[in-house]
Amino acid sequence: MKLLLHICCAPCAVAIVEKLENDSDISFKGYFYNPNIHPVEEYEKRKLSVINMSNEYNFNVAYEDDNKLEYWKNSLENDKLLRCNTCYSLRLSAAAKFAKENQFDAFTTSLLISPYQDHDLIKNMGQNIAKKYGIAFYYQDFRELYRKGREISRGKHYFMQKYCGCFYSYSESDHPKKPIYTFE
Ligand code: SF4
Repeated sequence: MKLLLHICCAPCAVAIVEKLENDSDISFKGYFYNPNIHPVEEYEKRKLSVINMSNEYNFNVAYEDDNKLEYWKNSLENDKLLRCNTCYSLRLSAAAKFAKENQFDAFTTSLLISPYQDHDLIKNMGQNIAKKYGIAFYYQDFRELYRKGREISRGKHYFMQKYCGCFYSYSESDHPKKPIYTFE
């Protein structure tokens, strides 16, 4: 199976990458599309770790740089359910479209490793989006790999983020530099 792995960040992806590389039935490529990440310095740190990971594990990643900060600011307000729903949907839809256009058999996402994300929502949304684009969603409950991914990442000095990604999650975090990036 030719699989497209949507990657949200290196710490969430690395244990999945190791698992996929040991599966002889799967060949895969990464896809980095995360227009939620704020601020741009944070985006660049997460992306750089993905570049380092892809070099160390010798697999290709397609990068689609995009920043939807104005959209997040003006359309999603501080409604967590709405914004996370939109955030998952944007990324999964882009991955499904890319996978379909580039002759992959299926797509999946590193979001499925996190115990802090809405796992069932991501699973159901992935399956629905897959139907819309006429491609398969490769669902696995990767959460058992979460701790392993953290350990590998610490050993390899991948950037370990302190918040989920968007402006709102940043505002809610105790990130030491947070006041610099507020909108006021
Ligand atoms: S909290 Fe995380 S999943 Fe929800 S909108 Fe923000 S970045 Fe996306």
